[in-house]
This record gives sequence, C-alpha cells and structure tokens, in this order.
Amino acid sequence: MTFHVVSIFPETFDSYLKESIIGRAIKNRKIKIKFYNPINYCAPKERVDDRPYGGGPGMVIRPEPVLKALSKIKLNKRTKIILLSPSGQKFTTSYAKQVAKKYTDIILISGRYEGIDARVAKIFKAGKISIGDYVLTGGELPAMVLIDCIARQIPGVLGKYESLEEERISSSEVYTRPEKLVYKGKSYKVPKVLLSGNHANIGKWKLAN
Ligand code: SAM
Repeated sequence: MTFHVVSIFPETFDSYLKESIIGRAIKNRKIKIKFYNPINYCAPKERVDDRPYGGGPGMVIRPEPVLKALSKIKLNKRTKIILLSPSGQKFTTSYAKQVAKKYTDIILISGRYEGIDARVAKIFKAGKISIGDYVLTGGELPAMVLIDCIARQIPGVLGKYESLEEERISSSEVYTRPEKLVYKGKSYKVPKVLLSGNHANIGKWKLAN
C-alpha cells in the first residue's frame, strides 16, 4: 500500500512515521509514504494561498499548486483520493478495512487555513473524510490517523502480539505488573478474574468492560 500525502507541512509527519509499528511497516516495505508539497509547485515568489472569494478572514490554498502536485501521482483503478475535511464522512474502522482491501494507493490531501479551493475535490471526485466533530488547524493529524488505522488492516503490519484488537475480545481496561500497586498510601489491585487463568471468565470480563 502506498500513501501519497499532499501537504504544505510534510515535516510534521517525521517523528510519528519513524516510530513503532508504523515505522517498522515502512522499514519492512509493507507500506510506503510519499509526500507532495504544493509549495514546491509554486513559481518563485508565488504564494500557495490567496484570499477567499466572497470574503472571510482566512486564506485559501490555491488550486493550481495542488493540481500540479497531484499530477505527479500515477492514478489507476485502485487509487483512492481522500480530502481531509471536518465536514466529511466520519472515519471509522469499517471504512479503513474497505479501503485497505480495495485500493493499493491512497492519496490524502491535507488542507490548512480555510481549506483548499473546492475545485480540486470536484475535479478529482475526492471523497471528503473527517476524523471527528471538531476543527483542527490542518489535515496532517487526520492524515496520520488514516495512515495508522488503514495500515493496521494490512496483513503483516501488526505483529503477533499486536493482532487486530477489532477482531478479538479486548478491553480498554488493561493491567500489567505489579499485582498490587500502592499509590499515595492507597492500594490498587488487578481484578481477580484476570489472575484466575479461567479464559472463559476472562473473556466474559473483557466483554463486560
Ligand atoms: N473551513 C474548512 C472546512 O470546512 O473544510 C476547515 C479548515 S481547517 C481550519 C484546515 C484544514 O484542516 C482542513 O482543510 C482539513 O484538511 C483539516 N481538518 C480540520 N479538522 C479536520 C477534521 N476534523 N477532520 C479532517 N480534517 C480536518
């Protein structure tokens, strides 16, 4: 799977993509991430953004540098184009699963300021995706969320110990040693059922939690 990220701030991805499971997936060539910075497709002294038609306080990313950046990506039937937007369809695990199964290339277009000129999404019939009902300053964090979640669905990305939580009984309440933790004079114990070795009961407890 190749993720093609269109962003004017590609450096924001550096540390996240180097670490842990995603870092390992890149090293093992399970996933590839390529960056396309619209600023690099501006003429000298030309700005990547401009004032919005109709007025308003913020700037809008101009369409031409984004279109030039996108023209560097070879499109095929198995390419999905996604524009990150707070007004898009809500991102879910089931969407991530579908996309991971169906496509080999995913283009993630990250906006900034007031967003990207709407004609880019129209030309490419890009699907708009939101990671939640809040507005962030840019599409880079949402792009990382999608990369992380979609990559988890690709065979071989997760190791044996990190197998898909979505497909086994897991709980958000997890414990490790010590069995009894003392903090500010109070003791906190691991629930007995987890120490019992009775896997049927442990499964029931996890479901309930
Ligand atoms: N008015 C713009 C709109 O409705 O699309 C929002 C602009 S926002 C300040 C700047 C950029 O951050 C957006 O273009 C988008 O790429 C990204 N963004 C902000 N919140 C997001 C969210 N919840 N989900 C996905 N992308 C988001």
